[in-house]
Amino acid sequence: MPGQFSGKQGLVLGVANRRSIAWAIARALAAEGAELAFTYQGERIESGVRELADSVSSPLVTSCDVRSDEDVERVFEEVGKAFGGGLDLLVHSVAFAAQEDLAGRFTDTSRDNFWLALDVSAYSLVTCARAAEPLMEARGGGSIVTMTYLGGERAVPHYNVMGVAKAALDASVRYLAWDLGQKNIRVNAISAGPVRTLAARSIAGFPTMEAIVEERSPLHRPIDADDVGTAATYLLSDAARNVTATTLYVDGGYHSMGM
Ligand code: NAD
Repeated sequence: MPGQFSGKQGLVLGVANRRSIAWAIARALAAEGAELAFTYQGERIESGVRELADSVSSPLVTSCDVRSDEDVERVFEEVGKAFGGGLDLLVHSVAFAAQEDLAGRFTDTSRDNFWLALDVSAYSLVTCARAAEPLMEARGGGSIVTMTYLGGERAVPHYNVMGVAKAALDASVRYLAWDLGQKNIRVNAISAGPVRTLAARSIAGFPTMEAIVEERSPLHRPIDADDVGTAATYLLSDAARNVTATTLYVDGGYHSMGM
């Protein structure tokens, strides 16, 4: 039986290794028949990402630093060529803040580090959505998913400037959804509970975050990257054709709690 994404083509940004949330999403999409291109940031992770991409028969693996307009432009040109001028799905699973800003006081964030976190973690969605727009328009529409976190809505100790970046990302989802809805392009976010990844390891006190969520969430259990993968397949699929500008929480219900 063909999968629900057979004939669909997507671009995945944010695979660093097999623990990455982006990889869990990619596996779930590929299992349902999607053809996927991948980007990686930096030579250090290139061979690992190529190996993962090969395992799902990816036609394109290319480098992209989302801080570079030239990189983003080139990547979408390459995607257009690889996918015959179109694109159906975009997975944006990219974030960065300086290590020293994910511990201590938010108050001490420097101007440069503030903009760095917002550039990589929020503006990158805007620039990628803009580059994806003509390719998705060529397909009569498309679906974009990004990754956010509760720390953009509430103060989560140590999340600091990344929380401010997630607030900007969440607002960007709403404005992009408004602009791109005219072209039948949907834009949504998944707010995930703590998942042990490379990025998560940079956050001071991450094990405490995991323990608190497990203790206080309605489901009293941790989530994993595959939970996010299956949620993303829903948002990216036609089953969610009238769902845009929204946040789907995959956190065992933790976001609903008052204490
Ligand atoms: P990860 O480290 O596997 O992924 C982060 C990715 O961002 C990496 O692939 C890295 O190469 C990429 N990246 C960083 N700077 C970049 C740049 N300048 N250009 C291009 N790519 C760049 O960690 P992850 O936890 O899978 O993170 C993916 C997303 O999920 C992030 O947006 C993160 O904030 C979000 N998120 C994670 C959790 C969690 O608990 N792990 C919870 C909620 C949201």
